Amino acid sequence: MTDAPAPAPLRLFNSLTRSLEPFQPVHPGEARVYSCGPTVYNYQHIGNMRAYVFADTLGRTLSFKGYALRHIINITDVGHLTSDADAGDDKMEKAAAQQGKTAWDIAAFYTAEFKRDLDWLNVRDPAKWTVATDYVPRMIEFAKRIADTHCYELDSGLYFDVSTVADYGRLARAVTDEGEGRIEEVDGKRHSADFAIWRKTPAGETRQMEWDSPWGRGAPGWHLECSVMGEAELGMPFDIHTGGIDHREIHHPNEIAQNQAYRGCGSLDCAEHSGARLWMHNNFLIDRGGKMSKSTGEFLRLQLLVDRGYSPLAYRLMCLQAHYRSELEFSWEGLGAALTRLKRLVMAAATVRETEGTAVTDRRLADLLEKFDAAMSDDLGTAVALTLLEEAAAMKKVDAGQKRATLAAMDAVLGLGVLTLERTDLRIRPKSATIAEDEIEAALARRKEARAAKDFAASDALRDELIAAGVEVMDGDPLGWDWRLEAN
Ligand code: AMP
Ligand code: ZN
Repeated sequence: MTDAPAPAPLRLFNSLTRSLEPFQPVHPGEARVYSCGPTVYNYQHIGNMRAYVFADTLGRTLSFKGYALRHIINITDVGHLTSDADAGDDKMEKAAAQQGKTAWDIAAFYTAEFKRDLDWLNVRDPAKWTVATDYVPRMIEFAKRIADTHCYELDSGLYFDVSTVADYGRLARAVTDEGEGRIEEVDGKRHSADFAIWRKTPAGETRQMEWDSPWGRGAPGWHLECSVMGEAELGMPFDIHTGGIDHREIHHPNEIAQNQAYRGCGSLDCAEHSGARLWMHNNFLIDRGGKMSKSTGEFLRLQLLVDRGYSPLAYRLMCLQAHYRSELEFSWEGLGAALTRLKRLVMAAATVRETEGTAVTDRRLADLLEKFDAAMSDDLGTAVALTLLEEAAAMKKVDAGQKRATLAAMDAVLGLGVLTLERTDLRIRPKSATIAEDEIEAALARRKEARAAKDFAASDALRDELIAAGVEVMDGDPLGWDWRLEAN
């Protein structure tokens, strides 16, 4: 670029202060990010995947802004109970018992499924996957350091006393004894918000996953895991901690309390005492029935979208159309519209796909890139950024190499793959389809001949046959898609 514009300053919304703040890295030139990962006792639903599309878009934006990114995502394979209020079973042990497998097998299976979904969504690999069970000795060391001053022991385990740190629950804003998950479920807790750091295996029982500790044989608490993995891999404080908005209520306030205790108990008026400078949360994906949840048995997985003939990247685009802090309602119509938008982008980008990218000097392209930078730097304005990508893709009478470079720069942030996706990648065969693609093409060719010969009865009959086989015939489709297989 000739007269390169000053890059827009990056501002991000900090849930701790509920305000937009400039991004100022703890270590100059670096960005260290920790994202709470899944509990691998089940498949992830597409709402969960929104959390990783958000974290990935944040990471890509930090890379675009020139920071050396170190992103950590954890895998919770022990310690997460069926209730956030320290009650119920360990989710992993419960799934193992239900499926007649070991907890380790359950973890391996659902971790692989999760990673495949990430791959489908073009979510980049983190610098490291931290697996909770690999960090148990460090968790015990962390707990030992805060045990005497901040914890107390009950028959059921070691508990964190939330009254020992300043500003407990500030992140959640409305922590009351009546608040969500604050039900007194454990005998002897001093405050209902106190939480388990270590859970002892009940006398006479054995767990598949248990370790010796100064507080008896047992397993770590879920909140402790993230504090320890974040500290171990990124140091403390690090730059950004992410998660879904539900984590703003219990999991992250508890992580923060532990971190404060570990770091000498400073007030949260200084965000660094919380362990991270910024705490960022994505809002929920909902469906018409409300929040998605796994407890109902059936839930929407990315696999189902694929089975119904939708590219997973249409779902990524659907996420990017909304701001990460807004609720997003899922609908099949919305997904269909996102797929059409993606097809249009891929078709427009195809004209420069084979070109060599060159430096951008064209004023119009440079302007678009500048606006794109401003949109993403304004707390990840993906909705506006998408329209700018479309504008660049549609630009006519412009140097192909420069156009390619502009699209590549924008797509590196949005992660849709518009320069590499083929049309065939977007034509996913629904699982329920019975007719083969070459049969469709052959029937359409015969229909074309019939129409050329003005044999409209034959042409209509062929069309009806195709419709009966689940094929939508799209005569004159502006995107050049002559047919589409419908899922039933
Ligand atoms: P979990 O495995 O329950 O810890 O969830 C994994 C991630 O998904 C966490 O960051 C959650 O906050 C997030 N999450 C859960 N449900 C939704 C939803 N419906 N929409 C967006 N994010 C969600
Ligand atoms: Zn976490």
